[in-house]
Amino acid sequence: MGEFELIAQCFSQAGRSRTDVVIGVGDDGAVVQVRDGFDLVVTTDTMVEGVHFFPDVDPRALGHKLVAVNVSDLAAMGAEPAWLSLAITLPKVEDAWLQAFAEGLSETADYYNCQLIGGDTTRGPLTLTVIAKGFVPRGKAITRAGAKVGDYIYVTGTLGDAALGLKLVQNQVEVSKKHRAHILQRFHYPTARVALGQALRTIASSAMDISDGLCGDLPHILNRSKVGAIVDVSKIPMSQALKDSCDWQSALQCALSGGEDYELVFTVPENKRGSLEVLLSPYGVPISCIGRITGLAGKLELKQGDQPFTYQHSGYQHF
Ligand SMILES: [Mg+2]
Repeated sequence: MGEFELIAQCFSQAGRSRTDVVIGVGDDGAVVQVRDGFDLVVTTDTMVEGVHFFPDVDPRALGHKLVAVNVSDLAAMGAEPAWLSLAITLPKVEDAWLQAFAEGLSETADYYNCQLIGGDTTRGPLTLTVIAKGFVPRGKAITRAGAKVGDYIYVTGTLGDAALGLKLVQNQVEVSKKHRAHILQRFHYPTARVALGQALRTIASSAMDISDGLCGDLPHILNRSKVGAIVDVSKIPMSQALKDSCDWQSALQCALSGGEDYELVFTVPENKRGSLEVLLSPYGVPISCIGRITGLAGKLELKQGDQPFTYQHSGYQHF
């Protein structure tokens, strides 16, 4: 057996066995059963060593994160995750590394009820690509294009923890013993807001996940919806761990420009606001209203209480 066949074997059982997979890993292509009355949502994310992760990262965490970031895009569309494909490029085969990576990937696929149905293995600089597929009831996907003037802007969870986690692993900040585990967990093991994303299908006018910081990502909704936004920075939810670990300015910088939180930002029309808290309370994920949609197309205004707030966004630029 060649080493790349060994790799294929590592991944042959990854994730939950789903009844809608007719042929999974091992043939020229996978065969899956699509559901009547549903649309298929497809998304791709690539992670490159030295760009998206450090060479010494725990391979189990890497496997987790690769699945979670892809599933997070499905969550942002209101989709139910179903299948994953994996393209893996490796400089060399290290059994222990590969085993731990495959376990992380498999556990997380399992957690989101996904099955790995195929992929490809090649030799080269370490690069990992997942294509995730999921279902939404026909015509019900939540897009970035539906925000309307007057809608309220919400985010899930807290923002900025992952950015602090990145600074922590780079030894740029000190984090007290009490908060270390939480911050590292948020950086290495992000949670995709899958159940909540599906609940938003009947409530949200637009949604996306926050991978490049609120100030980097919210403009995508504004541009696609041809609207503007006013956001009150004093309403941005931040964890106690973040607030205790740095001054307010630095914490806000993490929350607005730091990447990889994988929380959702979404907009809700006035007439849906009443049902929002009731419908979302079973999911146990706090939500915060941070602002409103305005008519100034493409313009993101920040304020602090009633005062204008000036802020230079320095989010991650891919190119
Ligand atoms: Mg996204």
